[in-house]
Amino acid sequence: MSETASGSCLCGAVRFTVSFPSLFCAHCHCSMCRRNHGAGYVTWFAVAPAQLVVETGADQLARYESSAHGSRKFCRRCGSSLFCESNQHPERVDIALGAMLEPIDREPQLHTYFDSRASWITVGDSLPRLGGKTGMEPLPKKKPEEGG
Ligand SMILES: [Zn+2]
Ligand SMILES: [Zn+2]
Repeated sequence: MSETASGSCLCGAVRFTVSFPSLFCAHCHCSMCRRNHGAGYVTWFAVAPAQLVVETGADQLARYESSAHGSRKFCRRCGSSLFCESNQHPERVDIALGAMLEPIDREPQLHTYFDSRASWITVGDSLPRLGGKTGMEPLPKKKPEEGG
């Protein structure tokens, strides 16, 4: 494991380098990630903002304010979603793991917003499955409306 890893958008206009250690890595099942990436769920890892350096294509990075507190940055040329930032946690920037060209320093650790997951997604791993308002709360084993 090297101390940095590089990543890129699909067209290669935006290239960046991340320094480790990372803060966490998680699969996010929220509806905004799903829609933004057109994917069943999105795997993010996070570093402190100073540990992310955009090497080329900073002028190609567009920002979409996806909520009152969060924004998503993507390549304006190819549309690849790369970074997610929130003023609720300015100490970190989330980076789409799928954009990385090299391994990072950890494996995915958990599922967030698991109760918002797409009905057509089946998860077969044994990682913790969290959800609720913050996406990080323990979920009941069975929802009350399911009875039982
Ligand atoms: Zn691109
Ligand atoms: Zn999400």
